[in-house]
Amino acid sequence: MAPPPHTKVAIIGSGPAAHTAAIYLSRAELKPVMYEGMLAGGTAAGGQLTTTTDIENYPGFAQGIGGSELMDQMRAQSERFGTEIITETITKVDLNQRPFKLWREYEDGEADEPAHTADAVIIATGANARRLALPGEETYWQNGISACAVCDGAVPIFRNKPLAVIGGGDSAAEEAMFLTKYGSHVTVLVRKDKLRASKAMAKRLLANPKVTVKFNHVAVEVQGENKPRGLMTHLKIKNVQSGAEEVMEANGLFYAVGHDPATAIFKGQVDTDEEGYIVTKPGTSYTSIPGVFAAGDVQDKRYRQAITSAGSGCIAALEAEKYLAELEDEIPLEKENQAKKPEVNGDAAPEYRSNPLL
Ligand code: FAD
Ligand code: NDP
Repeated sequence: MAPPPHTKVAIIGSGPAAHTAAIYLSRAELKPVMYEGMLAGGTAAGGQLTTTTDIENYPGFAQGIGGSELMDQMRAQSERFGTEIITETITKVDLNQRPFKLWREYEDGEADEPAHTADAVIIATGANARRLALPGEETYWQNGISACAVCDGAVPIFRNKPLAVIGGGDSAAEEAMFLTKYGSHVTVLVRKDKLRASKAMAKRLLANPKVTVKFNHVAVEVQGENKPRGLMTHLKIKNVQSGAEEVMEANGLFYAVGHDPATAIFKGQVDTDEEGYIVTKPGTSYTSIPGVFAAGDVQDKRYRQAITSAGSGCIAALEAEKYLAELEDEIPLEKENQAKKPEVNGDAAPEYRSNPLL
């Protein structure tokens, strides 16, 4: 059987991080292959921005640009320089031995045969904001409900209107304070009797006169205009201690209940933190495995923006390029050393040295 196709560098993912990496790598003539996903994690190829309307904070588009349109442009730019884009989801990887191996969903061939092998891999599979599946959530999603205050807070429907945030972590605190610039007042619903946010952040939040923190409260229903594309107007909330329910005015509802990084297939191979984010060396895209790089929201729980993802995709591409160049320099040496390679417990010593870049 013919071996699977091999590429110098494979990119898994299709958001701004993946496409920026692809643009840099294809312009460097490294012929990257991108697995863009087929509704991977329930999101269309192109990533999180395909789920939203106008992007107003991505530089270069003075009048804003639709999320899907921006991603179509990035995809076209990746292809223009020669990136091979495969519309399949990667469901299994082997990053423990070289070349790295990738298996895709609905593999046609032998069960054990990978779809692709690669000398370097860029992980840019992103993350998904958690939702709460509240009654009314589907109806008013993006018509009042958002999972990103920094992205959506400035739109006119929220100006001088009462807004609500759900969550008690650093994101909730940061988003609530950010929203005070736009809304008339911000109510933060915290399901427990305490905030999870850092002490400094919690102190600032509680001291903000435009914020009310309602402890022991959860949202139970989103209510609003009963017409196509109607906006949310009210939120039914519940005191979890007394069971008492009330309906409050709210023209905006921001979820800050955490994100789930798309890292299930890398667990146990690449180091992740306790929340599942891939750990990268600060300021770089280096993971715990030499030759495996991570970019975008999959390794960033702090900023989570299109522009920061794109920036980290650029870093990953430049670092992958450097890694591949060093690997090429190393190969003749490796071949030469092969004959005299010492044996470790009867096995040949590892073929690759530890991460030369760390
Ligand atoms: P993502 O955009 O998360 O994309 C990764 C994609 O890779 C996945 O969606 C999937 O298609 C694919 N994938 C995942 N796993 C696999 C796999 N195993 N195999 C193959 N493919 C896979 N940011 C802004 O800067 N401005 C905004 O206005 C803005 N608005 C937003 C609005 C909404 C509703 C949301 C949810 C986010 C918004 N963001 C905004 C945040 C921004 O979308 C993210 O920060 C950014 O998209 C992260 O990019 P990424 O490259 O890390 O990957
Ligand atoms: P966290 O997981 O820290 O917090 C999520 C919050 O949402 C918690 O208060 C949690 O409640 C609440 N929550 C979860 N599920 C529900 C639910 N179903 N209903 C109601 N509330 C719910 O996520 P963050 O995004 O806030 O932070 C992620 C990481 O990023 C953290 O490490 C944080 O420190 C970091 N970060 C740092 C920032 C900074 O330093 N400025 C800014 C933003 C993030 P409970 O507490 O009861 O579990």
